Amino acid sequence: MTRQCQRCDDWIPEARLGALPDTRLCLECSKEIGGDYVTYVTAENTGKPGSLKKNYGSWSIKRKLRPIIPKKPE
Ligand SMILES: [Zn+2]
Repeated sequence: MTRQCQRCDDWIPEARLGALPDTRLCLECSKEIGGDYVTYVTAENTGKPGSLKKNYGSWSIKRKLRPIIPKKPE
């Protein structure tokens, strides 16, 4: 099963789809825009509200699907 890149309409190689079945991008586009996902890392502040002391308990990592803007034909 093959699929087209949502950005440049190239066919995504089967090897890439095998490794990343959810990818919407070919390797080129993935490299250019930084991949399918945007990763946010935020420190969770467990300190009391109003306290100047900051206690960072843990890091929370969020992953969001990157919106893909189709590449304009040159
Ligand atoms: Zn592409």
